[in-house]
Amino acid sequence: MTKAFLVGRVVDGTGAPPRQDCAVVTEGDRIVTVGAQAEVAIPPGAEVISAPQATLIPGLIDLHVHLAYSGAAQRDRFRTDVVSLSYAQMALRAAGYAAATLRAGFTTLRDVHAPGGAIIDLGRAIRARQIAGPTIHACGVGLSVTGGHMDQPGWGDHVQLDGVTCACDGPRAFRRGVRQQVKRGADLIKINACVSSLLDPNHPYRQEMTDEELSAACDEAHVLERHVAAHTSGGPGLTAAVRAGVDTIEHGHWLDRETADLMAERGTILVPTLLVNERNFDFPREELGGSKEQWRWLEQSRDAKWLSLEIARQAGVKIGCGTDAGYMIPHGEMNARELELLVQGGLSEVEAIRSATRIGAERLGINAGEIAAGRTADLVLVDGDPVADIKVLQQQHLLRVFKAGTEVPREGEAA
Ligand SMILES: [Zn+2]
Repeated sequence: MTKAFLVGRVVDGTGAPPRQDCAVVTEGDRIVTVGAQAEVAIPPGAEVISAPQATLIPGLIDLHVHLAYSGAAQRDRFRTDVVSLSYAQMALRAAGYAAATLRAGFTTLRDVHAPGGAIIDLGRAIRARQIAGPTIHACGVGLSVTGGHMDQPGWGDHVQLDGVTCACDGPRAFRRGVRQQVKRGADLIKINACVSSLLDPNHPYRQEMTDEELSAACDEAHVLERHVAAHTSGGPGLTAAVRAGVDTIEHGHWLDRETADLMAERGTILVPTLLVNERNFDFPREELGGSKEQWRWLEQSRDAKWLSLEIARQAGVKIGCGTDAGYMIPHGEMNARELELLVQGGLSEVEAIRSATRIGAERLGINAGEIAAGRTADLVLVDGDPVADIKVLQQQHLLRVFKAGTEVPREGEAA
């Protein structure tokens, strides 16, 4: 199972400029050699993949997905799914979504909220090789205050949703919530630091968790060696989350310079999820529904998020690649659009690829996200040059995806 990729260029995920005419040798699930074609001896019996026009990049990482959800744009559909599918059905359906995202070049996904342990179990089944799929790190259920972003009201009095939300009030309850998710098998903890846009569009900055709750959740998660992802919109809630020690800031629409400096100092990653904001404007307003206030929020938060990215970039904050796929975004079809948006927001193509590879891998603590000897052979062979045009990554027919050294069959092909 030795492969030798002879490629026009390698973008290694570190942010280094592309290297021309490279040979990359993989053995089993590992990369063993990376070098100039003239200098690397091809091991006898290796399968040679000669692609002089192509670019080899590390497998991509999406740090913000919701595999339990279908990506339907209509909010009704979202709610129907929550009440009509069992956890097992969610996990089984999600296996298809994960496979579709893998075929799109994403070899690792971080799931940041799903009912119960549905996606934790999907990740385990893939790790145990019971089914094929990308590496999945999952948080289980996101922790919210009662009535918060992930414990939203609006259900009938008679409706009980067990395990769909994890409402915590007070520092002790947040510690318990963290422990419960870790007991269930969570790889990370998701908390909701700021109010939901849909619940309170007139107060986009409102902090949802208290400072004490934020500190307790972060402290407990870190004791249990899990990192913390925080849903944020902006203002004091965002700043408090960074101060309390969260590891990734999700969305971060209204980021100020001072908080950005603090993030840069602490190594807190910003996952701006640009796609989910842009996605709203792919649809006619009537189709999505929502109140006038909600639309105003969507427009303002979209502008604010572009500005956040600019501020973060200038402050030297690490930027991660995440999409919110599953929420209004179908899985696999458009995850790679986030890289195009990161470039639109001022990152170079090489930096956008680093965001979607090494920065994600470092955060997750996995031995992938980089083309270097000793790393896992999660690779994408792109028939084109993403440094000249990042959009080429959205052309799935131009991609060959390798997960731990094994080529991922295209849709409809037998494994
Ligand atoms: Zn999300």
